[in-house]
Amino acid sequence: MKIKCANCDYMGEATLLQKGSRSKEIALWCCLFLPGLLYTLWRQSSDGRYMGCPQCKSAQFRRITRREWKDLERQGALKA
Ligand SMILES: [Zn+2]
Repeated sequence: MKIKCANCDYMGEATLLQKGSRSKEIALWCCLFLPGLLYTLWRQSSDGRYMGCPQCKSAQFRRITRREWKDLERQGALKA
């Protein structure tokens, strides 16, 4: 899926990102077992995943259609 990021103007392929952070997950695991487990499960569920910008991890983007992408390529708007 090609996107144009509304946050940093990135144009290109969207990437699958995880909500939350790995460090928070580890901290929770160390301090409290149960919340850590729930947090891990949440992050691994489809709920905890989203498509977003690989540069700034923002989920605020506009989807670029195949035709738009072709136009952008022709205009040289894309950094190869
Ligand atoms: Zn971005």
